[in-house]
Amino acid sequence: MKYADLHAHTAESDGTYTPVQLVREAVARGLSAVAIVDHDSVGAVACALEEAKETNCEVIPGIELTAQQDNQEIHILGYFLDYQQAALLDELKLVRQNRVERVYKIIENLKESGIELNAQTVFNISGCGTVGRMHIARALVKDGWVSSTSEAFRKYIGDRSPAYVLGFRFSPAEAIKLIRDAGGVAVLAHPYILENDGLIAEFARCGLQGLEVYYPEHSQSLVNFYLDLAKKLDLLVTGGSDFHGSAKPNIKLGAIKVPLELVEKLRQATEPTLNNGYIG
Ligand code: AMP
Ligand code: FE
Ligand code: FE
Ligand code: ZN
Repeated sequence: MKYADLHAHTAESDGTYTPVQLVREAVARGLSAVAIVDHDSVGAVACALEEAKETNCEVIPGIELTAQQDNQEIHILGYFLDYQQAALLDELKLVRQNRVERVYKIIENLKESGIELNAQTVFNISGCGTVGRMHIARALVKDGWVSSTSEAFRKYIGDRSPAYVLGFRFSPAEAIKLIRDAGGVAVLAHPYILENDGLIAEFARCGLQGLEVYYPEHSQSLVNFYLDLAKKLDLLVTGGSDFHGSAKPNIKLGAIKVPLELVEKLRQATEPTLNNGYIG
């Protein structure tokens, strides 16, 4: 049986593997496909595609777009999108600028907990990739404020913690549209984080095409629940490990994998765009 891991991050966002290292890891683990879905960036895709050429592992160009609704962060995965589309790249640039501003806001909030963190420490860790909370967590570990990134999330920067800042540009509907306009397939990431499952039907009405049913935090009963929901809402079923390298050391690449047939269903759901040659 052939398998794919449809959720992996590189150092282009908050993972720690370079695109080349990620592809080599996917090959070493016997995966037939791996989707690179960095937060708000497609910067790792070209390099990973190049590395995968001589292997029997396919790299699926992807993204994990950050959106917000009802005061919560919602992640929309995009697969097989045109990672060179100018309109997409322009929007992503703006999102990443917002994220830089958000780092300063979170650092302001941390002061109220008595923490003095230098923004440059965070930016040194993120390098030229998408900056986010994982980099802040790593900076907090580096400066000795916490002993692990999970402690940083639990005490300070988790979704319901005191220093958390939301402030993203897109609604889920806009994120879905951006992905589909770039020829990609839009899938809701790790639905367990939603406070209200009713939103999933709403997203489906906005053009959502799939649900990330298989995910490390999903228990068997939750998997069954989402399988049922995907069937009712006519959504594709996907899954992946949310690999972040040593930033999430307990999650190995391929820890969650799905049969390769699901990749073919995703591929069939892609849309023609004006510049990918399918429309004459
Ligand atoms: P951001 O996009 O800046 O809001 O950060 C989201 C990322 O932070 C996720 O992709 C995870 O990598 C990480 N994250 C969020 N919550 C937690 C948590 N409770 N424990 C560990 N990592 C987390
Ligand atoms: Fe992440
Ligand atoms: Fe996510
Ligand atoms: Zn992710």
